[in-house]
Amino acid sequence: MTAEQMACSHESFGANVAVNRIEDKGAFMADVQIGCTQCGLPFHFIGVPLGLSYARPMASVDCTELRVPIGPGAVRPGASGTMRFETEVRSVDLLNAIAPEGTC
Ligand SMILES: [Zn+2]
Repeated sequence: MTAEQMACSHESFGANVAVNRIEDKGAFMADVQIGCTQCGLPFHFIGVPLGLSYARPMASVDCTELRVPIGPGAVRPGASGTMRFETEVRSVDLLNAIAPEGTC
């Protein structure tokens, strides 16, 4: 991280989403990257397992790319699993401290 990036308050963001069609798997993937447009520092995703899966979101080894399996159209709530909403806010330091090994 440069001195400029350390001093930046990260107030403006940009995102890049690449959507890929995996023909031999019949699947679609969205690869998401987010960064600060002021200093160029990439953001990392929190609480995501590392790797690549066609069944669940996962992240690159540096946690700066979220790899999300997607599909065309809408689905009914709960169709792809249990619905869960969390409202607890924790600091990033605490999240990093409690993240299981192999997660962001
Ligand atoms: Zn910044």
